[in-house]
Amino acid sequence: MNGPNLQPRIATVVDLTCARRRVVCVCNHVIFDGIVIRSRVVRLLPRGGAEALCRCKAWVTVPVTYSESAS
Ligand SMILES: [Zn+2]
Repeated sequence: MNGPNLQPRIATVVDLTCARRRVVCVCNHVIFDGIVIRSRVVRLLPRGGAEALCRCKAWVTVPVTYSESAS
């Protein structure tokens, strides 16, 4: 049953996905689709942020935040 309440929910999910940042490598590989980092190797940078190793061997900056728990 396709109730009238179903469509607004789907639209909301699509809007949220579009609001996320996609990261595309120079080789056209979508290395970060807003949810998943599609790389086997990710390195965290000391100044913050992270880089993912693309299949074309390029390091691509991905919007990842990393925080150590303060002691
Ligand atoms: Zn690439």
